[in-house]
Amino acid sequence: MPLRMWTLDVAREQCVTREHLFRYASESLDAGYDALGLYLEHRFAYPSTPWSHGVGVLTPETVRDVRREFPSLRIIPFINLLGHVEGFLYTEEGKAFREETMRGLQACPSHRGFVEFCGRIVQDTLEAFDDELVHLGGDETNQLGVCATCAQRVSSAPGDGKAQIYATHFAPLIHQVVDTGRRPALWGDMFLEHPDALNVLPREAMIFDWQYFGSVKESAPMLARNGNEVVACSTLHMYNSLWMNVEASDENIRNLAQDVASLELAGHCLTTWESTMLCPYDSILPAIKGAAPIMESPSTSPHLSVGYDDEWVSRMSKGVTELGGDFAHSKHRSKHRSRFLLYANPFLVQRHHAAELLGPTGAKAKHLAEESLAMATEPEFKVAPILLRALVEFVEMAEAARHQYAAGETERAVAALVPMRYLFESLEVQASRTHERIGGSLADIERCRRAKDHVETVIQRVRKYGDLSLGYRPAWEVLTHPNFMPHDQGCWWIVNQWGRD
Ligand SMILES: [Zn+2]
Repeated sequence: MPLRMWTLDVAREQCVTREHLFRYASESLDAGYDALGLYLEHRFAYPSTPWSHGVGVLTPETVRDVRREFPSLRIIPFINLLGHVEGFLYTEEGKAFREETMRGLQACPSHRGFVEFCGRIVQDTLEAFDDELVHLGGDETNQLGVCATCAQRVSSAPGDGKAQIYATHFAPLIHQVVDTGRRPALWGDMFLEHPDALNVLPREAMIFDWQYFGSVKESAPMLARNGNEVVACSTLHMYNSLWMNVEASDENIRNLAQDVASLELAGHCLTTWESTMLCPYDSILPAIKGAAPIMESPSTSPHLSVGYDDEWVSRMSKGVTELGGDFAHSKHRSKHRSRFLLYANPFLVQRHHAAELLGPTGAKAKHLAEESLAMATEPEFKVAPILLRALVEFVEMAEAARHQYAAGETERAVAALVPMRYLFESLEVQASRTHERIGGSLADIERCRRAKDHVETVIQRVRKYGDLSLGYRPAWEVLTHPNFMPHDQGCWWIVNQWGRD
């Protein structure tokens, strides 16, 4: 029987307590999964890196407790040892390992200290987890060969120099796992890009081939060319949606389940990414449960949405996707959620989405949000509709304020902005409740507070500069930007691009 598992993305700011992990474990077993993968990065309390333990980090004790309570469920650690080490790199202690300054997410494989750090993380992981499989990560190392030392190594190597530094980095870590009688695993994407690196893999190593669009029919046989076992990885399409695209997720899981059977692959792993920016994990648990039977019988199992209220899910998935534009199905991270919450400037939503959200699309979106909110029976199903409605209402307020400001009606502009305070307060309540309920992101709470603070700042600026006290009226986009500087009429912080980093 191929391995059936899913991964919990602990790394995106999740605060997984004992109680939460018990819930995930129990629901995984109920659904019929063999294993629960914990995608950790820096969100695990590795004994060797006390400097990286952020508030709410998952602990080895919690993992041991869950193993004791649920002995029939495998708990597989997913660490990451080259790309996606950003949670280490952006700390004072970890910054020495970075490949570039204030850019990207990859460490430098030529840095001796980083190589030793990886060895210690592997050792900590081998001690904290008892599963045979230890996933070492290795995906999205798009900064290979960037620093001067690595660039020199890449250019002086015969053949594919990037394949060589990648393989040289991972080979000892793979063997560290093999030497203890355990099995290492790696993601497949960099091997597909640099196939020469496959040659360092011992037969025991498994490759996790993530293909969230299409199939693994071409990629899996390439990855298996030296006899390594391959696990197909599907995903729930959340990172690229306002909430989740259930139709695209069902299609992805079903296609890969068919490939697993026809290619006789070692297993199927459902990944779930980025349950942040107001996308609570408990709102996707019904889909995680619905995926397990599809993995087993792709041609006969019910749709992934089976565990949801029909009316709610058809609005928040199909309904939202059919709004089109930036709501449509895409490979891109959700532009709405990112612009609203990630960059400490919600006015980015106005700049990029005003036309979309003020027109008929916005009206439809608000209608969908209000209907879904009315039919949401559990708190986790209220978050996405509240977010959708907030997006539209934010743009309505921001556009009204912009027009009044342009017309010199300062106090009317302020009056249009004031209700934004309550809008971000209500989003902060949702973020706080999500954190309490399922260990959701603490950063989300801060993101909502920061957005509200920024609105406050913009209100002050409108009052102060809307009456032409500067002798000119700053453009609305400039006035609402965090970098706005009074009297810098030419906006040299925009014009002078080279110094911005
Ligand atoms: Zn380097």
